Amino acid sequence: MRPDLPLLQAESLSREFDLPGGGIFARKRRLEAVSEVSFSIGRQEVLGLVGESGSGKTTIGRMVMRLLPPTRGRILFDGVDLTALSGRALRAQRRRFQMVFQDPYASLNPRMRVREIVEEPLVVHGIEPDSSSRRDRVARLLERVGLSSRDMERLPREFSGGGRQRIGIARAIACGPELLVADEPIASLDLSMGAQIINLFSSLVDTDAMSLLFISHDIPMVRYLSDRVAVLYRGRIVESGPTRDVLDDPRHPYTRLLAEGTLPEAGEAAPSNAGSEPGPTGLCAFLPRCDRALPECRLAPPPRLSEGEVREVLCHLPRGESSWSPVTLLSQGSPSDVPATPSR
Ligand code: SF4
Repeated sequence: MRPDLPLLQAESLSREFDLPGGGIFARKRRLEAVSEVSFSIGRQEVLGLVGESGSGKTTIGRMVMRLLPPTRGRILFDGVDLTALSGRALRAQRRRFQMVFQDPYASLNPRMRVREIVEEPLVVHGIEPDSSSRRDRVARLLERVGLSSRDMERLPREFSGGGRQRIGIARAIACGPELLVADEPIASLDLSMGAQIINLFSSLVDTDAMSLLFISHDIPMVRYLSDRVAVLYRGRIVESGPTRDVLDDPRHPYTRLLAEGTLPEAGEAAPSNAGSEPGPTGLCAFLPRCDRALPECRLAPPPRLSEGEVREVLCHLPRGESSWSPVTLLSQGSPSDVPATPSR
């Protein structure tokens, strides 16, 4: 363990996808879903990653989990470059970071009993090889997430959505990970179930010393749970900083829309330009929607500016915002390289 380093550092992550169409001799068209995204997550810290549908949140989560290789950039976990690992070396690290998926209905095998689902990662990683001690551990895990050891032999279909999400969380924490990546974990739950799951995450951070990348469009829940927040628009982080500072005093016009609650719900159609490549001019991707555009917005790409080393924004701010200065090369695109101080 390297306590001097953030637990996770994403450095200039980009991910491109081939677009369908074009003949075999035609030049392939590429879509840049994520572009030069950098952030870090400290130990026992929650980073909220917010943005509308199609902004690249899930792609980032999948890259952090090494379910999807980045086209460019690095992911350092506890100082180890995950992007350089494969095979056994990657598997050895993988138990240290786990994912909680959005859809508790689709992420559980309907034919497996709860005990089998939760013990599967223990078997894969060779933890608790003795079946009786493994069973005891599964019982403890179920109780940890608010289920009962009596639920072990039940099937996922016998549970509500919240119950299934608890099973998914029990599976995710089975090997004692240091980082959870939760991708819209409450999007398919009702308000009360969602609040219970959020409280469970909060307890895992506070009591079990886990860190959390909380990917969500639910601004009130992000405000409640996250120490810091990074706002994503069309694959780029456009604003970041301590959650309350960013949401109470947003500087980027897009963040202002989010904070005012005018973000489209998850699953709604993304804007037609979401996820597409920036224009050839490199001008601000938010320009067509911006109600505060300045003359310089039509002339030059937005600069990345910082204030007090903890906040960053990608925008031509109005003149007079003298406390903001261009990000130095060392932290360019790295809004969260400052060691985090958990606020909880
Ligand atoms: Fe609006 Fe200009 Fe800022 Fe883009 S750079 S968000 S167009 S003010």
